Amino acid sequence: MLISVVVPMYKEEAVARECHRRLSKVLTPLPYDSEIIYVNDGSSDGTGTILNELQAEDERVRVIHFSRNFGHQNAVTAGILNACGDAVILIDADLQDPPELIAQMVETWQKGYEVVYGERKKRAGERRFKLATARWFYQLLDQLSDTKIPKNTGDFRLMDRSVVEAFRQMPEKNKFIRGMVSWVGFRQTALLYERKERFAGETHYPLRKMLKLALDGILSFSTKPLKLVAGLGFVTVLISFIVLIYSILQKFFGYTDQGWTSLMTAVTFFAGVQLISLGIIGEYIGRIYDESRDRPNYIIADMRGFQHAKDAPFDPYGKHLPR
Ligand code: UDP
Ligand code: MG
Repeated sequence: MLISVVVPMYKEEAVARECHRRLSKVLTPLPYDSEIIYVNDGSSDGTGTILNELQAEDERVRVIHFSRNFGHQNAVTAGILNACGDAVILIDADLQDPPELIAQMVETWQKGYEVVYGERKKRAGERRFKLATARWFYQLLDQLSDTKIPKNTGDFRLMDRSVVEAFRQMPEKNKFIRGMVSWVGFRQTALLYERKERFAGETHYPLRKMLKLALDGILSFSTKPLKLVAGLGFVTVLISFIVLIYSILQKFFGYTDQGWTSLMTAVTFFAGVQLISLGIIGEYIGRIYDESRDRPNYIIADMRGFQHAKDAPFDPYGKHLPR
Protein backbone atom coordinates (compact mmCIF):
# COMPACT_ATOMS: atom_id res chain seq x y z
CA MET A 1 0.00 0.00 0.00
CA LEU A 2 1.26 3.42 -0.94
CA ILE A 3 0.24 6.79 0.46
CA SER A 4 0.82 9.87 -1.72
CA VAL A 5 0.97 13.33 -0.23
CA VAL A 6 0.52 16.27 -2.60
CA VAL A 7 1.90 19.66 -1.54
CA PRO A 8 1.54 22.76 -3.77
CA MET A 9 4.27 25.33 -3.25
CA TYR A 10 4.42 28.88 -4.47
CA LYS A 11 7.27 30.99 -3.09
CA GLU A 12 7.50 28.90 0.07
CA GLU A 13 11.28 28.96 0.64
CA ALA A 14 10.68 29.95 4.26
CA VAL A 15 8.59 26.87 5.02
CA ALA A 16 9.63 24.16 2.52
CA ARG A 17 12.22 22.45 4.72
CA GLU A 18 10.12 22.63 7.88
CA CYS A 19 7.15 21.28 5.92
CA HIS A 20 9.19 18.30 4.77
CA ARG A 21 10.50 17.67 8.27
CA ARG A 22 6.99 17.62 9.75
CA LEU A 23 5.61 15.44 6.94
CA SER A 24 8.48 12.97 7.29
CA LYS A 25 7.90 12.72 11.00
CA VAL A 26 4.29 11.76 10.39
CA LEU A 27 4.80 9.43 7.41
CA THR A 28 7.83 7.45 8.59
CA PRO A 29 6.12 5.57 11.44
CA LEU A 30 3.07 4.68 9.30
CA PRO A 31 2.92 1.01 8.27
CA TYR A 32 2.71 2.02 4.57
CA ASP A 33 5.07 3.17 1.85
CA SER A 34 4.78 6.83 1.03
CA GLU A 35 5.66 9.36 -1.62
CA ILE A 36 5.59 13.13 -1.25
CA ILE A 37 4.86 15.10 -4.40
CA TYR A 38 5.91 18.74 -4.18
CA VAL A 39 4.50 20.88 -6.96
CA ASN A 40 6.55 24.02 -7.51
CA ASP A 41 3.99 26.38 -9.01
CA GLY A 42 6.44 28.64 -10.84
CA SER A 43 8.08 30.11 -7.74
CA SER A 44 10.55 32.91 -8.43
CA ASP A 45 12.39 32.45 -5.12
CA GLY A 46 14.54 29.58 -3.84
CA THR A 47 11.68 27.08 -3.45
CA GLY A 48 12.66 25.09 -6.56
CA THR A 49 16.25 24.64 -5.41
CA ILE A 50 15.20 23.55 -1.93
CA LEU A 51 12.75 21.01 -3.38
CA ASN A 52 15.45 19.55 -5.65
CA GLU A 53 17.73 19.23 -2.62
CA LEU A 54 14.99 17.47 -0.66
CA GLN A 55 14.50 15.14 -3.60
CA ALA A 56 18.20 14.26 -3.66
CA GLU A 57 18.16 13.57 0.09
CA ASP A 58 14.94 11.57 0.36
CA GLU A 59 13.86 8.93 -2.13
CA ARG A 60 10.21 9.36 -1.20
CA VAL A 61 10.22 12.86 -2.66
CA ARG A 62 9.02 13.66 -6.17
CA VAL A 63 9.08 17.17 -7.57
CA ILE A 64 7.06 18.74 -10.37
CA HIS A 65 8.21 22.13 -11.63
CA PHE A 66 5.69 24.22 -13.57
CA SER A 67 6.89 26.48 -16.37
CA ARG A 68 5.21 29.43 -14.63
CA ASN A 69 2.63 30.14 -11.94
CA PHE A 70 -0.60 28.33 -12.84
CA GLY A 71 -2.35 28.73 -9.50
CA HIS A 72 -3.06 26.58 -6.47
CA GLN A 73 -5.87 24.43 -7.93
CA ASN A 74 -3.77 23.53 -10.98
CA ALA A 75 -0.77 22.70 -8.81
CA VAL A 76 -2.88 20.35 -6.71
CA THR A 77 -4.32 18.81 -9.90
CA ALA A 78 -0.82 18.07 -11.22
CA GLY A 79 0.00 16.31 -7.97
CA ILE A 80 -3.16 14.20 -8.04
CA LEU A 81 -2.81 13.22 -11.70
CA ASN A 82 0.77 12.06 -11.17
CA ALA A 83 0.29 10.32 -7.81
CA CYS A 84 0.44 6.54 -7.60
CA GLY A 85 -0.88 6.05 -4.08
CA ASP A 86 -3.78 3.91 -2.92
CA ALA A 87 -4.69 7.03 -1.00
CA VAL A 88 -3.80 10.58 -1.98
CA ILE A 89 -3.58 13.34 0.63
CA LEU A 90 -3.73 17.05 -0.20
CA ILE A 91 -2.13 19.51 2.20
CA ASP A 92 -0.92 23.12 2.07
CA ALA A 93 2.78 23.79 2.45
CA ASP A 94 2.51 26.52 5.06
CA LEU A 95 1.62 24.15 7.96
CA GLN A 96 -1.73 25.85 8.55
CA ASP A 97 -3.10 22.35 8.15
CA PRO A 98 -1.34 20.21 10.78
CA PRO A 99 0.44 17.24 9.11
CA GLU A 100 -0.11 15.31 12.34
CA LEU A 101 -3.78 14.90 11.37
CA ILE A 102 -2.65 12.69 8.48
CA ALA A 103 -2.19 9.70 10.80
CA GLN A 104 -5.81 10.02 11.88
CA MET A 105 -6.95 10.48 8.28
CA VAL A 106 -5.24 7.26 7.27
CA GLU A 107 -6.82 5.45 10.21
CA THR A 108 -10.28 6.69 9.24
CA TRP A 109 -9.65 5.70 5.62
CA GLN A 110 -8.78 2.20 6.83
CA LYS A 111 -12.17 2.05 8.52
CA GLY A 112 -13.74 2.29 5.08
CA TYR A 113 -14.21 5.97 4.26
CA GLU A 114 -13.14 6.95 0.75
CA VAL A 115 -12.85 10.66 1.57
CA VAL A 116 -11.65 12.09 4.87
CA TYR A 117 -11.59 15.87 4.87
CA GLY A 118 -10.36 18.29 7.49
CA GLU A 119 -12.99 20.62 8.87
CA ARG A 120 -11.77 23.80 10.52
CA LYS A 121 -13.35 24.30 13.90
CA LYS A 122 -11.18 27.35 14.57
CA ARG A 123 -9.02 29.53 12.36
CA ALA A 124 -6.16 31.31 14.02
CA GLY A 125 -4.34 34.28 12.57
CA GLU A 126 -6.81 35.09 9.80
CA ARG A 127 -8.04 38.60 9.24
CA ARG A 128 -11.68 39.35 10.13
CA PHE A 129 -12.28 40.22 6.49
CA LYS A 130 -11.19 36.78 5.32
CA LEU A 131 -13.29 34.99 7.94
CA ALA A 132 -16.40 37.02 7.07
CA THR A 133 -16.05 36.69 3.29
CA ALA A 134 -15.35 32.97 3.63
CA ARG A 135 -18.51 32.57 5.69
CA TRP A 136 -20.65 34.48 3.19
CA PHE A 137 -19.17 32.58 0.31
CA TYR A 138 -19.91 29.16 1.78
CA GLN A 139 -23.45 30.22 2.66
CA LEU A 140 -24.05 31.49 -0.87
CA LEU A 141 -22.53 28.35 -2.37
CA ASP A 142 -24.76 26.24 -0.17
CA GLN A 143 -27.86 28.11 -1.42
CA LEU A 144 -26.90 27.92 -5.07
CA SER A 145 -25.28 24.53 -5.47
CA ASP A 146 -27.10 21.22 -5.84
CA THR A 147 -24.00 19.39 -4.61
CA LYS A 148 -23.62 19.51 -0.84
CA ILE A 149 -20.19 21.01 -0.28
CA PRO A 150 -19.21 20.99 3.40
CA LYS A 151 -18.54 24.38 4.97
CA ASN A 152 -15.28 25.33 6.67
CA THR A 153 -13.20 22.96 4.61
CA GLY A 154 -10.29 23.60 2.31
CA ASP A 155 -8.49 21.11 0.14
CA PHE A 156 -6.85 19.41 3.15
CA ARG A 157 -8.16 15.85 2.73
CA LEU A 158 -7.47 12.20 2.01
CA MET A 159 -8.92 10.55 -1.09
CA ASP A 160 -9.05 6.86 -1.82
CA ARG A 161 -7.80 5.62 -5.20
CA SER A 162 -11.42 5.15 -6.36
CA VAL A 163 -12.07 8.85 -5.77
CA VAL A 164 -8.85 9.80 -7.56
CA GLU A 165 -9.89 7.68 -10.55
CA ALA A 166 -13.24 9.49 -10.59
CA PHE A 167 -11.40 12.81 -10.41
CA ARG A 168 -9.39 11.76 -13.47
CA GLN A 169 -12.68 11.58 -15.35
CA MET A 170 -13.39 15.26 -14.67
CA PRO A 171 -11.15 17.15 -17.07
CA GLU A 172 -12.80 20.53 -16.57
CA LYS A 173 -10.76 23.73 -16.57
CA ASN A 174 -11.09 26.27 -13.72
CA LYS A 175 -11.35 23.55 -11.12
CA PHE A 176 -12.87 23.86 -7.66
CA ILE A 177 -11.38 20.69 -6.25
CA ARG A 178 -13.16 20.55 -2.88
CA GLY A 179 -16.49 20.76 -4.72
CA MET A 180 -15.50 18.14 -7.28
CA VAL A 181 -14.53 15.71 -4.54
CA SER A 182 -17.91 16.23 -2.84
CA TRP A 183 -19.67 15.69 -6.16
CA VAL A 184 -17.99 12.31 -6.66
CA GLY A 185 -19.84 10.75 -3.73
CA PHE A 186 -18.67 7.62 -1.87
CA ARG A 187 -18.45 7.55 1.91
CA GLN A 188 -17.11 10.88 3.11
CA THR A 189 -16.43 12.03 6.63
CA ALA A 190 -14.88 14.99 8.46
CA LEU A 191 -12.14 15.29 11.05
CA LEU A 192 -12.20 18.47 13.10
CA TYR A 193 -9.00 20.45 13.49
CA GLU A 194 -7.74 23.85 14.45
CA ARG A 195 -6.35 25.81 11.55
CA LYS A 196 -3.13 27.42 12.68
CA GLU A 197 -1.29 30.50 11.57
CA ARG A 198 1.16 30.27 8.74
CA PHE A 199 4.53 28.85 9.88
CA ALA A 200 6.37 31.59 7.97
CA GLY A 201 6.11 33.67 4.82
CA GLU A 202 2.91 35.27 3.66
CA THR A 203 -0.29 34.28 1.91
CA HIS A 204 -0.31 34.04 -1.87
CA TYR A 205 -4.07 34.19 -2.05
CA PRO A 206 -4.75 37.88 -2.63
CA LEU A 207 -8.33 39.05 -3.04
CA ARG A 208 -8.08 38.58 -6.81
CA LYS A 209 -7.27 34.85 -6.53
CA MET A 210 -9.88 34.38 -3.78
CA LEU A 211 -12.55 35.93 -6.00
CA LYS A 212 -11.54 33.71 -8.91
CA LEU A 213 -11.78 30.60 -6.74
CA ALA A 214 -15.15 31.72 -5.34
CA LEU A 215 -16.50 32.34 -8.85
CA ASP A 216 -15.21 28.97 -10.06
CA GLY A 217 -16.93 27.33 -7.12
CA ILE A 218 -20.28 28.95 -7.80
CA LEU A 219 -20.28 28.88 -11.59
CA SER A 220 -19.13 25.29 -11.94
CA PHE A 221 -21.62 23.98 -9.39
CA SER A 222 -24.70 26.01 -10.23
CA THR A 223 -26.59 27.54 -13.14
CA LYS A 224 -28.90 29.36 -10.75
CA PRO A 225 -27.28 32.77 -11.43
CA LEU A 226 -28.57 32.42 -15.01
CA LYS A 227 -32.07 31.73 -13.73
CA LEU A 228 -31.70 34.76 -11.50
CA VAL A 229 -30.97 36.85 -14.58
CA ALA A 230 -34.09 35.55 -16.27
CA GLY A 231 -36.12 36.28 -13.13
CA LEU A 232 -34.71 39.80 -13.04
CA GLY A 233 -35.79 40.22 -16.66
CA PHE A 234 -39.38 39.27 -15.83
CA VAL A 235 -39.54 41.66 -12.90
CA THR A 236 -38.20 44.57 -14.95
CA VAL A 237 -40.68 43.88 -17.76
CA LEU A 238 -43.44 43.95 -15.16
CA ILE A 239 -42.18 47.26 -13.76
CA SER A 240 -41.90 48.77 -17.24
CA PHE A 241 -45.54 47.84 -17.95
CA ILE A 242 -46.64 49.73 -14.86
CA VAL A 243 -44.50 52.71 -15.86
CA LEU A 244 -45.92 52.55 -19.39
CA ILE A 245 -49.52 52.69 -18.18
CA TYR A 246 -48.63 55.54 -15.82
CA SER A 247 -46.96 57.47 -18.66
CA ILE A 248 -49.97 57.05 -20.98
CA LEU A 249 -52.30 58.26 -18.24
CA GLN A 250 -50.01 61.26 -17.62
CA LYS A 251 -50.08 62.12 -21.31
CA PHE A 252 -53.88 61.76 -21.34
CA PHE A 253 -54.20 64.30 -18.55
CA GLY A 254 -51.74 66.63 -20.21
CA TYR A 255 -48.77 66.44 -17.80
CA THR A 256 -46.11 65.73 -20.38
CA ASP A 257 -43.29 68.20 -19.84
CA GLN A 258 -42.06 66.73 -16.55
CA GLY A 259 -40.33 63.48 -15.83
CA TRP A 260 -36.65 64.02 -16.59
CA THR A 261 -35.59 62.67 -13.18
CA SER A 262 -37.70 59.54 -13.37
CA LEU A 263 -36.55 58.97 -16.94
CA MET A 264 -32.88 59.23 -16.03
CA THR A 265 -33.37 57.01 -13.00
CA ALA A 266 -35.07 54.36 -15.07
CA VAL A 267 -32.52 54.50 -17.88
CA THR A 268 -29.50 54.21 -15.61
CA PHE A 269 -31.12 51.57 -13.40
CA PHE A 270 -32.05 49.33 -16.29
CA ALA A 271 -28.70 49.89 -17.97
CA GLY A 272 -27.14 48.66 -14.73
CA VAL A 273 -29.39 45.62 -14.55
CA GLN A 274 -28.55 44.76 -18.15
CA LEU A 275 -24.81 45.11 -17.67
CA ILE A 276 -24.84 42.94 -14.54
CA SER A 277 -26.88 40.32 -16.39
CA LEU A 278 -24.50 40.42 -19.34
CA GLY A 279 -21.61 40.08 -16.92
CA ILE A 280 -23.08 36.96 -15.32
CA ILE A 281 -23.77 35.40 -18.71
CA GLY A 282 -20.30 36.48 -19.82
CA GLU A 283 -18.68 34.59 -16.95
CA TYR A 284 -20.34 31.38 -18.11
CA ILE A 285 -19.46 32.04 -21.76
CA GLY A 286 -15.85 32.72 -20.79
CA ARG A 287 -15.72 29.34 -19.11
CA ILE A 288 -17.30 27.63 -22.12
CA TYR A 289 -14.60 29.34 -24.20
CA ASP A 290 -11.91 27.99 -21.87
CA GLU A 291 -13.33 24.49 -22.23
CA SER A 292 -13.62 24.60 -26.02
CA ARG A 293 -10.11 25.98 -26.51
CA ASP A 294 -8.95 23.03 -24.46
CA ARG A 295 -5.51 24.38 -23.64
CA PRO A 296 -3.33 22.47 -21.18
CA ASN A 297 -4.26 23.10 -17.55
CA TYR A 298 -0.57 23.67 -16.82
CA ILE A 299 2.81 23.03 -18.36
CA ILE A 300 5.39 20.95 -16.57
CA ALA A 301 8.95 22.13 -17.13
CA ASP A 302 10.66 19.37 -15.14
CA MET A 303 9.81 16.29 -13.12
CA ARG A 304 12.16 14.65 -10.65
CA GLY A 305 11.96 11.46 -8.68
CA PHE A 306 9.24 9.92 -10.83
CA GLN A 307 10.12 6.61 -12.42
CA HIS A 308 8.67 7.62 -15.76
CA ALA A 309 9.91 11.17 -15.62
CA LYS A 310 12.02 12.15 -18.63
CA ASP A 311 10.80 10.04 -21.56
CA ALA A 312 7.19 9.49 -20.59
CA PRO A 313 5.81 11.68 -17.83
CA PHE A 314 2.38 10.59 -16.62
CA ASP A 315 0.41 13.69 -17.45
CA PRO A 316 2.58 16.61 -18.50
CA TYR A 317 -0.22 18.97 -19.46
CA GLY A 318 -3.00 18.12 -17.03
CA LYS A 319 -5.20 16.73 -19.80
CA HIS A 320 -6.40 13.88 -17.60
CA LEU A 321 -4.85 11.25 -19.84
CA PRO A 322 -5.70 7.63 -19.12
CA ARG A 323 -2.97 5.85 -17.22
N1 UDP B 1 -0.14 28.16 -3.74
C1 UDP B 1 0.18 27.72 -5.03
N2 UDP B 1 0.02 28.58 -6.07
C2 UDP B 1 -0.46 29.85 -5.91
C3 UDP B 1 -0.81 30.27 -4.60
C4 UDP B 1 -0.65 29.40 -3.55
O1 UDP B 1 0.60 26.58 -5.21
O2 UDP B 1 -0.57 30.57 -6.90
C5 UDP B 1 0.03 27.21 -2.60
C6 UDP B 1 0.80 27.77 -1.42
O3 UDP B 1 2.19 27.56 -1.56
C7 UDP B 1 0.22 26.98 -0.27
C8 UDP B 1 -1.23 26.77 -0.68
O4 UDP B 1 -1.26 26.94 -2.10
O5 UDP B 1 0.84 25.72 -0.12
C9 UDP B 1 -2.18 27.72 0.01
O6 UDP B 1 -1.77 29.05 -0.23
P1 UDP B 1 -1.73 30.17 0.89
O7 UDP B 1 -1.27 29.60 2.18
O8 UDP B 1 -0.95 31.33 0.33
O9 UDP B 1 -3.27 30.57 0.98
P2 UDP B 1 -4.15 30.81 2.30
O10 UDP B 1 -3.87 29.67 3.24
O11 UDP B 1 -3.71 32.12 2.85
O12 UDP B 1 -5.55 30.82 1.79
MG1 MG C 1 -2.11 29.19 3.94
